[in-house]
This record gives sequence, C-alpha cells and structure tokens, in this order.
Amino acid sequence: MVHEHRTWLTELDAAIGDGDHGINLDRGFAGVVADLDAAGTLPRDPAAVLETAGRRILGLVGGASGALYGRGLMVAGARLRDAQTDPARDTGGLVLVVIEGAVDAIAALGRASPGDKTMLDALVPAREALRTSLSRNPLPEALAAMAAAAVAGAEATTPLVARKGRASYLGERSAGHLDPGAASSALLVGCLADVLGGSAGRRRPEG
Ligand code: ADP
Ligand code: MG
Repeated sequence: MVHEHRTWLTELDAAIGDGDHGINLDRGFAGVVADLDAAGTLPRDPAAVLETAGRRILGLVGGASGALYGRGLMVAGARLRDAQTDPARDTGGLVLVVIEGAVDAIAALGRASPGDKTMLDALVPAREALRTSLSRNPLPEALAAMAAAAVAGAEATTPLVARKGRASYLGERSAGHLDPGAASSALLVGCLADVLGGSAGRRRPEG
C-alpha cells in the first residue's frame, strides 16, 4: 500500500515539507516485508511482528515520521504482548490496544495534539471511532468506522495551519494542503482494517 502510494505521499510532502515522506516510508516498509519474507513463514506472534517492524522502520526511515511510526509500532507490539494473555480481550479489543499504544507513543514522542496538522489528526479519530463502534457493533463495522474516521481526519488537515514538524516553519502557507503524515496514517489504518476483515479500508484521502 505504501509502495503503491509513495509518489503521491512524496508530492504531498514536497508541498509543505521536504519531499521525502513517500520515499522514506517505502524504504522502511520494503525492509519490513524483506524481514517477513526472510523469516520464511509469517511469524505467528503479531506482537513480535509489530515490534520487529517498528525497529526496522526506526532504522530505515529518516525524518520525523521514522521515529514516530517506529516508536508507535514498537509500543503497539509491547502493549499487544501484555494484552494477548488476557482471555477477556477479543480481536476487536486487541486491535484497540494496538491503536491506543501507537497513538500514546506518537503523542508522547512528538508532543502534538489533534488540530496540529500531523498524523495524529488521522490516528486519534481512528482510535475514537474504533472504541465507540466496538461497544455497539460487530468487528467488521467497527473496522470500517475506524478506517473511515482516519480518512476523514486526514482530509480535515487540509485547511489547518501546521503547528508541529517541518510544515510548521511555513506558518499560514501550510494551510490548503493535505498533511502527508495524516495521509500515510489513513492508508496504514485502512490497510489494518482491510486485513482484519473490514470493507472500507482502501479509500485514499482526497486533497
Ligand atoms: P520530515 O518532516 O522529518 O521530513 P516526514 O516527511 O517523513 O518527516 O514526515 C512528515 C510528517 O510527520 C508530517 O506530515 C506530520 O504528519 C508528521 N509529524 C511531524 N512532526 C510531528 C509531531 N511532532 N507529531 C506527530 N506527527 C508529526
Ligand atoms: Mg519530509
């Protein structure tokens, strides 16, 4: 998914950053895929997959997003490792643990809040939609709600003035552009929803 959208993500970053977001993420996720291929069979433990992927992303992806996604995936994996042993947690509950872990880690490291025009503008609404929907709907609907909220959240970054990251150096001139990190987060959340059986996971944010 990242590979397919690398040029688009890089163009988004060229408008309000330094034009490396798609290239960087593509290099990182190619490394993750190579690790999984080298392991022969897919590792059975999703917590280990997340932690390994996080370390790889941290090592291969430069810039702010490498540190943020890398740390987010590692913490998501660590939280999942603990939660997996809790028999009260079903799949939906475990996905929520993963998303909460990633959001907590990214917010702690980057010190951004929703509205700052960052990846959190996609990830926080995704977490909220998943949490709310899981309490009243079956998993596929909750996953679709999560994916849709991430796309809507990403799209809502367009009019915002960036308050964090490289785009914030542009001040008012950062308004009128989709945030590249929010766009890639919407793609990643959509992928997760797709793989786990949602149906609305493949819409790319417009803008
Ligand atoms: P860099 O800006 O270092 O070149 P990337 O281009 O890979 O890094 O990623 C830029 C994206 O990272 C931004 O679009 C934004 O979504 C995200 N980002 C930057 N700083 C922060 C932060 N402090 N908190 C959360 N996300 C951030
Ligand atoms: Mg950049």
